[in-house]
Amino acid sequence: MSKRYTITAALPYTNGPIHIGHLAGVYVPADIYSRYLRLTGNDVAFICGSDEHGVPITIKAKKEGVTPQDIVDKYHAVIKQSFEDFGISFDNYSRTSAKIHHNTASEFFKTLYDKNEFVEEVSEQLYDAEANQFLADRFVTGTCPKCGFEEAYGDQCENCGTSHNATDLINPKSAITGNVPTLKETKHWFLPLNKHEQFLKEWILEGHKKDWKPNVYGQVKSWIDDGLRPRAVTRDLDWGIPVPVEGGEGKVLYVWFDAPIGYISATKEWAEREGKNWEDYWKDENTSLIHFIGKDNIVFHCIIFPAMLKAEGSYILPENVPANEFLNLEGNKLSTSKNWAVWLPDYLQDFPNQQDVLRYALTANAPESKDNDFTWKDFQARNNNELVAIFGNFINRVVVLTNKYYNGVVPEPSDLSLVDQETLAAVKAYPHVISSSIERYRFREASQELMNLARLGNKYLADEEPWKTIKTDEERTKTVMFVALQIASALGVLSEPFLPFTSKKLDTILAVSSSGVENSWIDISEKNILLPAGHTIGKAELLFSKIEDKTIQLQLDKLEASKKANEAANKTIEPQKDEITFDDFTKLDIRVGTILEAEKMPKTKKLLVLKVDTGIDTRTIVSGIAESFKPEDVIGKRVSVLVNLAPRKLRGVESQGMILMTENAQGDLVFVNPDTSTPLSAGDGVSNGLKIS
Ligand SMILES: [Zn+2]
Repeated sequence: MSKRYTITAALPYTNGPIHIGHLAGVYVPADIYSRYLRLTGNDVAFICGSDEHGVPITIKAKKEGVTPQDIVDKYHAVIKQSFEDFGISFDNYSRTSAKIHHNTASEFFKTLYDKNEFVEEVSEQLYDAEANQFLADRFVTGTCPKCGFEEAYGDQCENCGTSHNATDLINPKSAITGNVPTLKETKHWFLPLNKHEQFLKEWILEGHKKDWKPNVYGQVKSWIDDGLRPRAVTRDLDWGIPVPVEGGEGKVLYVWFDAPIGYISATKEWAEREGKNWEDYWKDENTSLIHFIGKDNIVFHCIIFPAMLKAEGSYILPENVPANEFLNLEGNKLSTSKNWAVWLPDYLQDFPNQQDVLRYALTANAPESKDNDFTWKDFQARNNNELVAIFGNFINRVVVLTNKYYNGVVPEPSDLSLVDQETLAAVKAYPHVISSSIERYRFREASQELMNLARLGNKYLADEEPWKTIKTDEERTKTVMFVALQIASALGVLSEPFLPFTSKKLDTILAVSSSGVENSWIDISEKNILLPAGHTIGKAELLFSKIEDKTIQLQLDKLEASKKANEAANKTIEPQKDEITFDDFTKLDIRVGTILEAEKMPKTKKLLVLKVDTGIDTRTIVSGIAESFKPEDVIGKRVSVLVNLAPRKLRGVESQGMILMTENAQGDLVFVNPDTSTPLSAGDGVSNGLKIS
């Protein structure tokens, strides 16, 4: 039975391109789900858009000396292109800087304001006096009050996923100036989450205990168990949607208030374009609303946004929020700042036209119930051992043999053997098996069932050996090829949600839609013949090609280069001595001198006794450089001498000053020589500072 679905995928934040973690966590599963629902005859609005407000964008703009609008324009285009390239079949991809969104979010706020759903509060917020600015969200970092992570942001800890207020941070620090912020009074509007606690308990904790994923349910439960507090929905900031009520001057809506409303405005934009009624997709109880997100967004989609929708009063609530865990890359957390990622534009450059390979590898290894690791070796194995050796190999054999034996015309079968009947019956079961996995958001399992169907085909051909029977039994060969062609046809349909580009190619190879013999998802189960005898298929074309070790090695080398670059950037500078004042420095009387005489101090290893002409006098200086220099080598050298160091006796000889020495990059002791460029300070990174010698 046809149903109406509103499927949303997390709005990507517009301060950089998309990487494989985003694809695996949100967009590929959401796309599989949406494509599947469309194939099974449902009414689907698959909605997404760029999230273009918030502090990180303004920080990035400041850093790059451009406007926030420049930043979002740039990355909106890049991200949108990536989604198109990878076949993410959004019905609408909008952006939150669009006018329709500003209006929708503004109205939403005003409705809640008019219904007295906000608490107005003058509170003390963190303020950076030097930057003349309140420090909301990412403008402040500090220690997470929950897990102790020291780099937590003002609105959320990326380590434990906890969302909090900036004033909750321990040891807060301004991200603009590095200063310790002060508290300053400002008025804001808060959404009293505590007021919605009972409803959230009943709706999620009691209502969705069984059908929501345990990782999602568990996080929500722990949130509610901790007790919910009012959350500010406005910010002192100039980039965003202006607060549309009196007293809101100079303030904007909190990005996490406006972003999820972006799903609604993107639906409106789409409905206007398509001549549909957007309210059917957001206000009709018979519509299923599903949010696809990553685990870092659970609190916003399961607590804050539902509380907003509930407070507004006319909206439906999500039926499910199938959040994924995180994908790691080669054993390490994906990181934009450390460039530890596989960026989609880069992938496409290195693997042109191989979008389905990545889609498949990410689905087969999706972080559905726990964090998972993407490795290039696994990617290669998924391609070579599954897509090439099983799926591609089966299709290729069927198409090549059909062309070879029958000029591409599907042969008329004779009596079906028991094996044939069992095989065809097994094919008929696949739509149900795959549906059942998809409908429970088990996309890994679903992708493996699809591969099992290809395995079935491969095994059938290997067992029935048409390339042998063609010499002995023409009628049997026709039957075997007929059965194999039915399996190929089923694969073409059932692979569409997972491998849309391959499915399309297969459609062309089997000449399905061009000759009007296409089948629906349900047809695979219900029809006895998918590809009728007499139908002419096209020529063979390789669906997948083997990925060689050297191609994989290039990717591993890229990551290794990232790792090296990071290590170089993070190399710790050796601790320096305590800071001194300029006054301290001017106390030093340093002069250029010439070493006139030098001899070893008897019975010592390290000491030389030098006679030095300092320009004002000739004096004796004992210097601990005998292990590095022979006496005869230093005579005549021009050196820097600290002449006002208090005299002290060494082995009975009074030393009346100090020769300044330093180390070169190789760690050798060298003179601070006025005639060469040997530096006096450690500033250029070559020397390691003055040595007391
Ligand atoms: Zn934390």
